[in-house]
Amino acid sequence: MKKLTVLSGGMGGARFLRGLLHGITAGTLPGVDADAEVTVVANTADDWWIHGLKVCPDLDTVMYTLGDGIDPGRGWGRRDETWSAKEELAAYGVEPTWFGLGDRDIATHLVRTQLIDAGYALSQVTDALCKRWLEPVWGDRVRLLPMTDERVETHVAVADPASPSGRRVVHFQEYWVRLRAEVAAETIVVVGLDDSSPGPGVLDAIAGADLVVLPPSNPVVSVGTILGVPGVRDALRTTAAPVVGLSPIVGGSHVRGMAEQLLATIGVEVSAAGVGRHYGARSAGGVLDGWLVDERDAGEVAALEEAGIRCAAVPLMMTDHDATAAMAAAAIELVAG
Ligand code: GDP
Ligand code: CA
Repeated sequence: MKKLTVLSGGMGGARFLRGLLHGITAGTLPGVDADAEVTVVANTADDWWIHGLKVCPDLDTVMYTLGDGIDPGRGWGRRDETWSAKEELAAYGVEPTWFGLGDRDIATHLVRTQLIDAGYALSQVTDALCKRWLEPVWGDRVRLLPMTDERVETHVAVADPASPSGRRVVHFQEYWVRLRAEVAAETIVVVGLDDSSPGPGVLDAIAGADLVVLPPSNPVVSVGTILGVPGVRDALRTTAAPVVGLSPIVGGSHVRGMAEQLLATIGVEVSAAGVGRHYGARSAGGVLDGWLVDERDAGEVAALEEAGIRCAAVPLMMTDHDATAAMAAAAIELVAG
């Protein structure tokens, strides 16, 4: 295999990608060339404008992680970060104070915002930013593509007894960062998604791949939004490449993040099998040929196989690059064997 395409959110997707690239370089992935190319189609529905800056959390998490600029402890933002700008903004009483942009990180958003203001598309801007982060480490072997160049934003309706309607609609960032996903999400509306179109190269990356991977990313607000860009689901259904996914739900719960809450909101059972069935078998109008579940969820394999999805149970905790590369190898074996 020479061309791998991965549909990614932020932290889960980035960690998986780092391990996948480790496996490719080490030659431990069955049938994958040591110089194989990886195209990342990243979720952009978490993006928002804050303090006049365009911030793209998932694109940046992938870019910093693969470019070795990520803060390894937090898993987002820049390593060796300082927070003077955040403190100064707070001293002015400027809201929102709950969303912190680090000083180093702000440089990325300044560059991005200026290029967007000058009329460049997000995909072009991302390409420019990746010249600094991806090219020195991976040459032209890793490409990072926004799922769309258009503005798409996830919003969440939450119960709010204080408001006359009894509910309030907040941007996904407010739901996650300020409310910490602790209030019930009544509905999720991805503004602009239905009218969006895939970013340059996205459909080709799926159609021309030798393998497409759905990493353990959030099935609702990461992979779910990418699949919602008109044309992407059809591309997955019709590509000649096998499509394999890895469950982000392990032992009935998300490992980190807020997938549990959001799966409940869209009425999907919070289990590895629930997410697998939600994506569906390609043979039955869904997007998956294969689905890896954690060994703790081995009891769910038979039901998934019955639903027409090849399934296996292996350790799915991304504890280090080797463990993650082993997950990638198992995913490839499942569908390419
Ligand atoms: P986000 O955009 O930063 O939320 O990142 P993603 O959407 O790419 O991934 C978040 C999801 O990754 C979470 O909902 C978890 O379910 C999943 N996740 C995180 N760490 C692990 C892990 O070690 N193993 C598995 N199987 N899933 C994980
Ligand atoms: Ca995200």
